[in-house]
Amino acid sequence: MRDWLALRAGATPTRTALVDARTGRATTYGALDARVEELAGRLSALGVGVDDHLGVVAGTRPAFLELVHAAARVGAVLVPLNARYTAAELRETAGRADVDALVCEADTEAAAVESFDGPVATLDDPAHGATDLAAVEPATFDVPAWDRDCAQALVATSGTTGGPKLVELTSGNLLASAAASSWRLGVLPADRWYCTLPMYHMGGLAPVYRSVLYGTAVVVGTPGSFDPERALAEMSEHDATGVSVVPTMARDLLDVDDGALADLRFVLVGGAATPDALVERANEAGVPLHPSYGMTEAASQIATARPADTAAALGTVGHPLVFTEVTVTDGEGTVLPPGEPGEIVVSGSTVSPGYYGDEDATDEAFGPHGFHTGDAGYRDTEGRLWVLNRLDDRIVTGGENVDPGEVAGVLRDHPDVEEAFVLGLPDDRYGQRVAALVVGADDTAALESFARERLAGFKLPRTWRVVDALPRTASGTVDRAAARDLFGDT
Ligand code: ATP
Ligand code: MG
Repeated sequence: MRDWLALRAGATPTRTALVDARTGRATTYGALDARVEELAGRLSALGVGVDDHLGVVAGTRPAFLELVHAAARVGAVLVPLNARYTAAELRETAGRADVDALVCEADTEAAAVESFDGPVATLDDPAHGATDLAAVEPATFDVPAWDRDCAQALVATSGTTGGPKLVELTSGNLLASAAASSWRLGVLPADRWYCTLPMYHMGGLAPVYRSVLYGTAVVVGTPGSFDPERALAEMSEHDATGVSVVPTMARDLLDVDDGALADLRFVLVGGAATPDALVERANEAGVPLHPSYGMTEAASQIATARPADTAAALGTVGHPLVFTEVTVTDGEGTVLPPGEPGEIVVSGSTVSPGYYGDEDATDEAFGPHGFHTGDAGYRDTEGRLWVLNRLDDRIVTGGENVDPGEVAGVLRDHPDVEEAFVLGLPDDRYGQRVAALVVGADDTAALESFARERLAGFKLPRTWRVVDALPRTASGTVDRAAARDLFGDT
């Protein structure tokens, strides 16, 4: 049962599993199963077997999806690694994850070979000494025993608040998450999920597991940096019915949309907060935008809003998904009533057992009531969830608490401002000082007077930076450390 593809191919061998948008080639579940069987044999020949850790350092491409299934087939734990890592970062993360063998591609081969002492095989023509995976003679392997608590993947968080943490996800976590997502978004036989997010992050990996459970197809977008026009063209050419994106990609898609997005079943937006203005714009255009709140530790979505939810309550991420319980607690762990903000705590069958190889971090975050997300939010009287900001983002300046989300929200209301991010900088006199990064508006004096009419004096940004784009992690969250660096020593 770890091997979902085997069950799927047995049930619906002729259904389309995969469409490669780069070549236009479609693969059925039966054909995918045969390819994966061969690939599993090659992994076995490289020495990868039950409970071994298979590192994959590649961008989103059909072979990535095949490796997900091939790892499961030999009983190995999949360890997706960031394809943008340098050799040093790769060495650190692969070491921490106890990776036994590594599969790379042309773009990542040099770093993989340099950083990893064990077997390295490449999906493309070798140029730096890796083994050509396609040329490996498949070996036999035993079908592994399954239990829902066995680790199926170690997935790195985005590293927004520090070094990425390695989240252990069990087969049971992934199964519960895929099933829960289907209750919120629905499933139709003709579904085709357009995949362009990195598969080495949760948001990009999850549709691979979901689709094989549902018996629906994924359309793998042409690799490379996100191009909204190309994405729209590929979605329409290959009859995509849904897509997962981060908020900036959703905005880019809406900017070039000629009405095609309204024909989709869902545009699932996650990784970071979806700005209200974007949600309103999508709702007005009839685009089925589904703002979601999720995280690696819960195997992706925790709560996801349907358009009707955001039409009734703009800003909400909707009701929690089935199998996931969400409570809001104060610093002492007391559950707070509706309307009162506190820390979001999640529990249930989607929630990971902990961080791999890091007992301290696990003990700190995974308590008896569930996983402490470090995010602030509240439930309303209807049970909908509202996410405010990360707890450690709160700014205390001259003894006053400032919610950076509130200040950024006011700045975004200015017609010239496309994006805004607010953070606290160290300040000799006040402890911390409010600082703002803005995209779109260059007259910060005008912005300041705009903000002054709407915010108490202590909430006003004292330091401003105008930038072309906010620094972001691959999952779409603003990269805190990089944002801070933009202010230099000021
Ligand atoms: P790290 O844990 O390494 O600091 P990360 O938390 O960004 O990185 P992910 O698991 O990819 O890694 O992202 C989950 C986080 O993204 C959530 O905890 C939350 O802070 C943020 N997030 C996700 N969806 C939303 C949303 N709808 N609104 C606000 N924040 C969101
Ligand atoms: Mg996190």
